[in-house]
Amino acid sequence: MKQLDIGVVGAGPAGLAAALFLSRAGHRVEILERFDTPAPVGSGLLMQPTGLTVLAALGLVDTIQTLGNRIDRLHGADAISGRTVLDVRYDAAPGGRYGLAVQRAALFNTLHDAAVAGAIPIRTGVNLTSALQRGNRAVLKDQWSQDIGDYDLVIDASGARSLLAAGSTSAPRVRDLTYGAFWATLNGAGATYDRTALSQRYDKAKVMIGLLPSGRATVGGQDKVAFFWSLKIADVDAVKVAGLARWKTVIRDYWPECQPFLDQIDDWDQLTLARYAHRTTLPPYGGNVVFIGDSAHSTSPQLGQGANMALLDAAALSHALASSADIPSALAAYARARRSHVRLFQMLSLAFTPFYQSDSTAIAWVRDRLVSTIAKVPPMPGFLAAIVAGTVIDPFKSAGLTEHDWLSLPSQADSALPAVAAVRSSTHV
Ligand SMILES: Cc1cc2nc3c(=O)[nH]c(=O)nc-3n(C[C@H](O)[C@H](O)[C@H](O)COP(=O)(O)OP(=O)(O)OC[C@H]3O[C@@H](n4cnc5c(N)ncnc54)[C@H](O)[C@@H]3O)c2cc1C
Repeated sequence: MKQLDIGVVGAGPAGLAAALFLSRAGHRVEILERFDTPAPVGSGLLMQPTGLTVLAALGLVDTIQTLGNRIDRLHGADAISGRTVLDVRYDAAPGGRYGLAVQRAALFNTLHDAAVAGAIPIRTGVNLTSALQRGNRAVLKDQWSQDIGDYDLVIDASGARSLLAAGSTSAPRVRDLTYGAFWATLNGAGATYDRTALSQRYDKAKVMIGLLPSGRATVGGQDKVAFFWSLKIADVDAVKVAGLARWKTVIRDYWPECQPFLDQIDDWDQLTLARYAHRTTLPPYGGNVVFIGDSAHSTSPQLGQGANMALLDAAALSHALASSADIPSALAAYARARRSHVRLFQMLSLAFTPFYQSDSTAIAWVRDRLVSTIAKVPPMPGFLAAIVAGTVIDPFKSAGLTEHDWLSLPSQADSALPAVAAVRSSTHV
């Protein structure tokens, strides 16, 4: 395909990764971001083998591994009885896969630094609200309907609340989820927690408390833990009125080991309220505008796939553009490449979320008694590991990727990766 003028809306994981792939493929790329200074939003997230493979394709996997914290399993226990009701281990499936918990800042900095190093222009302080088709180009407009730029192709990577997607012919139906969560990034020093796991405590499905050891934002920076507490959005005001002390007591009673984390919270402002919505933009393109990442599909983060799917979308779009003769066929190829994987994980997220975030005692009972028992019977451990890894169907080939070799030695000093080094020596030596 000829060299294209491409406008990428949004400097999140999807937008930055797409800009990197396409600029390296020789296109003229410009990123447009509404914030005056691009910055990460939110706390920590879990990178899966899918997203890590995309970062490897961009030559960034060593960088993110020095910042992130290796996660080997997802562990959840009933807060009252202490009984384990969820124990998914990546090594239940072959291949040496693992997760990497990262601070959002670490993922953002890794991608943003690469974009800056690649001299990709980033226009900040522009709030894009619509894209107009003019001939065979797309014109981006801001909130005052001013033309901001016109491009052969606009990539909308402006997230779950994308105005471009909402105003498009494939505008998604938005289903706001009843439950959301408070999130905070806290210091891990001095606290007792499993550094190799995403750990959760539940009381039926109405309470879920979680700790995700999420590494450091910069090399040599302090190790942090993403702390979250699930609650109904409708209950947020009542919880705040009852006061922070009451809220901390509730959590301490459920999970006393959280005390060192609770001690760091003395203001509601330290907690970010995350609201979740389920939506899918179908088809994920229209005219010369294509949707990727949360703009194309979003859901609750129960399965920890969103940022990973965003990175896969960026890789798949770049691959489709490289292997198609024109933009319409490339966009159709991109949609085809991602369709099954996106559909499957949208469906799985929707199905799994009520097991962890709902008012239903029946669903929680099924989770604690039936699912936790079935989950131990082969081949379920391997299947659950593949769900968590995002690899239950192959997302790589259609995106032009080869899965990263998880057993290969990292190029950076092993001292930065104690957990990786320990596992490697036990499996290889
Ligand atoms: C609490 C929580 C926990 C999560 N945990 C995980 C996890 O463990 N693992 C995982 O993979 N995913 C997780 N996710 C999902 C993940 O955060 C998203 O899927 C991911 O950030 C999507 O990336 P994106 O680039 O598509 O969108 P975003 O990250 O939302 O980035 C969008 C960018 O577009 C910009 N923008 C928005 N509107 C405009 C506009 N009008 N004009 C210009 N720019 C605009 C924004 O400022 C932002 O920079 C979690 C989400 C939440 C809320």
